[in-house]
Amino acid sequence: MRLSKSFVPTLKEVPNDAVVASHVYMLRAGMIRMLSAGIYSFLPLGYKVIKKISQIIREEMDAIGGQEFHLPGLNPREIWEETNRVDAFGDTMFHIKNREYILAPTHEEIMTFHARNVLKSYKDLPQIWYQIQTKFRNEARPRSGVIRGRQFLMKDSYSFDATAEELDKSYSLHDKAYRNIFDRCDLKYFVVGASSGAMGGTGSEEFMVKSDAGEDTVAYCEHCTYAANVEVAQSKILPNKRSEFSSELKEISTPNVKSIDELCAFLKIDESQCAKSRVYIHDDIPLLVLMCGNDEVNETKLEKVLGGKIRPAHLEELKEITGADAGSIGPLGFKGRIIVDNRLKDANNLYSGANKNDYHIGGIDMNRDANKPEYFDLRIVKSGEECPNCNNKLEVFSAIELGHIFKLGTKYSSAMGANFLDESGKENPIIMGSYGIGVERVMACYIEQHHDENGIVWDSVLAPFQIQLISLNMKKPEVVEASENIYNELTANGIDVLFDDRIDAQAGFKFKDADLLGMPFQVIVGEKKLKDNKVEIKIRKSGERFDLDINELMSNIKKLLKS
Ligand code: ATP
Ligand code: MG
Repeated sequence: MRLSKSFVPTLKEVPNDAVVASHVYMLRAGMIRMLSAGIYSFLPLGYKVIKKISQIIREEMDAIGGQEFHLPGLNPREIWEETNRVDAFGDTMFHIKNREYILAPTHEEIMTFHARNVLKSYKDLPQIWYQIQTKFRNEARPRSGVIRGRQFLMKDSYSFDATAEELDKSYSLHDKAYRNIFDRCDLKYFVVGASSGAMGGTGSEEFMVKSDAGEDTVAYCEHCTYAANVEVAQSKILPNKRSEFSSELKEISTPNVKSIDELCAFLKIDESQCAKSRVYIHDDIPLLVLMCGNDEVNETKLEKVLGGKIRPAHLEELKEITGADAGSIGPLGFKGRIIVDNRLKDANNLYSGANKNDYHIGGIDMNRDANKPEYFDLRIVKSGEECPNCNNKLEVFSAIELGHIFKLGTKYSSAMGANFLDESGKENPIIMGSYGIGVERVMACYIEQHHDENGIVWDSVLAPFQIQLISLNMKKPEVVEASENIYNELTANGIDVLFDDRIDAQAGFKFKDADLLGMPFQVIVGEKKLKDNKVEIKIRKSGERFDLDINELMSNIKKLLKS
């Protein structure tokens, strides 16, 4: 492809409001343009990458017996009513004005609709149906470019099985396919076992990559690959040691001491000696949560323990519930359930609020002084704590979800009446799985992981072109002739070349653009080296440069591409 005739509008400056590297470089390299918030157009260079990713996904989905569909994005609303998901999606779902149509945010319902009409017998199962197709979600905060868009491409697949064992097979086929896809795309990823969330079913895993653009926080152990969303992550942190003797309770005047850090500084004690109090409301009833020192309450864990939604008590409610304001609350005399993190199990000689403003109490013995404490793991794990599976350290960081595999069970088939007759002639709902990959996210995450200060560093099969051929002077006939010959020879050999044949662009500008676009190899044709019948090669990733004799160019390039 000739740059002189192509639409690759590169930008010198970092565009406004682009923060994460992939967003910046996809804009600067002329791969995407924003149409409106969360809605992006892919320009030819960017779309070339999307097609390459899609091709890899297709090959791996076909390899596990997937059959490709193409479902409509415009759906009659009534099908979505069958599973109550119009309500479940709420504002995230786009409605066509008269509300009889919606724009599909995913396709469980539509695939189940087709399954219900055709998969009637166990003999029709198993099936894996997939598509690579546009989804619409009215994301409240579209951000980081195509990483969270309001319209995006998803590979979504759905498995239909007769038994739980068969579902396990479809699920592990997808697991393998996903690993192949992300490996082939040269992505460094890890897999998080998620608690089966709002979609229902049993067992699900998320394929994640570490990234500042991520909106999930995960705990990860490099050593044993333990990975968990912090909402459920655990660590091997030990409970406080119980001292041999419990001291007497003593009330201590602590004027203006509110936080655990202030209390520790004031009393010259360690934070592990403090029981931090948090009041929550569950089913309209207040309860007290006690955490060790500065540990934070993991509200997801707390909700799991209590069953149902909780909310922190409002500041105005605290006084009424405990007799004190935030900063002076504690377990002594608290009327209601006291839920305590495992780190404080059987602990004694603790300090906590006195339920009286500006006072704390020392010498608290959980066994002696707290009213029926109930112990659970309630903490948010922190970086540096010991991995629950091995002896190495956990790292806590932000991450992006690339893909998701999910055992749906019979949630959709039951709701929609997609039943089949089993071998004994009995009618059962089909057992389903659903599996998604964000195609644009794969591209953005690749760039997140493969760039430097000058631009993108394509170093894999995803590169839009294998070579950028740079002619340093299109006004000198001998340079033009040599560059054209090289271009023709490379393309004749099936190599995908982006030829910078722009007449008016300066050499420095062409070099900058080549680094920004980031093709794996640059072939630079200039007047000086041509005199010795040579061209210069630059390897984008290492920055290494060397000369090659034009006569031996083809064979050497082939070797380079193989490497
Ligand atoms: P997230 O938690 O990031 O919102 P999700 O759980 O809503 O993701 P799924 O419904 O499982 O995502 O969709 C499957 C895949 O589609 C995700 O793993 C992700 O790669 C991609 N995806 C989801 N939402 C978006 C979006 N708004 N923009 C781009 N890709 C998305
Ligand atoms: Mg989402």
